[in-house]
Amino acid sequence: MSTQNPIFIPGPTNIPEELRRAISNPSIDHRSETFVEMFKPALAAVKRVLKTTTAEALIFPSTGTGGWEAAITNTLSPGDKVLAARHGMFSHRWIDLCQRHKLDVEILECEWGTGAPADLFAERLAADKDRAIKAVLVTHNETATGVKSDVAAVRRAIDSADHPAMLFVDGVSSIASMDFRMDEWGIDIAITGSQKGFMLPPGLAILGISQKAIAAMDTAQCPRCFFDFQDMLKTNATGGFPYTPPANLIRGLTVAIGMLEDEGLEDVFARHHRIAEGVRKAVAAWGLSLCAITPDLYSDTVSTVVVPAGFDGTEVVTMAATKYGVPFGVGLGEVAGKVFRIGHLGSMTDVMALSGIATAEMVMADLGFPIMLGSGVAAAQDHYRTTAGSLNTTASNTKNAA
Ligand SMILES: *Cc1c(COP(=O)(O)O)cnc(C)c1O
Repeated sequence: MSTQNPIFIPGPTNIPEELRRAISNPSIDHRSETFVEMFKPALAAVKRVLKTTTAEALIFPSTGTGGWEAAITNTLSPGDKVLAARHGMFSHRWIDLCQRHKLDVEILECEWGTGAPADLFAERLAADKDRAIKAVLVTHNETATGVKSDVAAVRRAIDSADHPAMLFVDGVSSIASMDFRMDEWGIDIAITGSQKGFMLPPGLAILGISQKAIAAMDTAQCPRCFFDFQDMLKTNATGGFPYTPPANLIRGLTVAIGMLEDEGLEDVFARHHRIAEGVRKAVAAWGLSLCAITPDLYSDTVSTVVVPAGFDGTEVVTMAATKYGVPFGVGLGEVAGKVFRIGHLGSMTDVMALSGIATAEMVMADLGFPIMLGSGVAAAQDHYRTTAGSLNTTASNTKNAA
């Protein structure tokens, strides 16, 4: 596999040269003032990305899955009821994690390709007269199906039922790439990781936790140690860590957020939308459709492309990797074989996206798909030509090239 080609899996994402340099530092003493000075700006920067002024930011050496576990074990007790929709592999895995922690998960089974059903959540919450549901779980961006859910609508559903349940949101493949508003959406725990929108290697679970979530720790009985929020909050207060911190990645995180803020967070979101639109125009030109059932659900970070009947999405991914040295994402779970995924988040430009679209097109032609070579590339080119330059998207690219 070439190390020159960009990757198009929806995480880990491409790492800009600037970040590779930022994390290749010599070891430091994590009990020194050097660490304290490095750590505080990272926590402040995470809060800005989450758009919260009231929550605490926490960083654990882990991945998104560890973030799920931290959220659950710090705030809930075995037997507690939580409400969740299953509409893709990641919502499924979070439900599975809850069940293994002996939570009672009320599952709304939804078609893969749909979003979190705010109206059904509202119904269930209204029917929960004794307020047994302690938390509502939402996967903001289902990375398996390329579906973005409306978190604000889920907030309204909870409010309309006047229900005290906490709102936990998996934003692993949305945060730092798509609009995310922790305070405005009334989110109690937001979860992400270092290897998607933040353009870093895997290794960090990054969380925002509301004061309500912190208060829930008083009664939460799930066993916890490594992920204990109080241990972390207590040591963080003096700039320290309860164990050896992943100092290089924390340093990288501050630099990554600096890059995002140099570009402008809203411009980062607009860039992802523009690039995603180009990919979607290519998919339409191929005569194919997305797994997401309606345009309002389209994700700006990953496109899950449905392959024609009689073809295998996994073969597309295998050939792209072996023949052209370009990784795409396979279909997971219920949609395995029926789709392939194009990840277009993090460090991504029009030109990179075009190379991915061109590669997917070559592979599909090689495999005998009924598509016209060049059709998707041309559709995306048209989109990028007419929309490029209208945004301040060049700042970080220029810097990377320097
Ligand atoms: C990548 C991802 C995760 C977490 O995966 P890890 O491998 O544990 O980092 C969780 N949820 C979503 C939506 C994801 O895309």
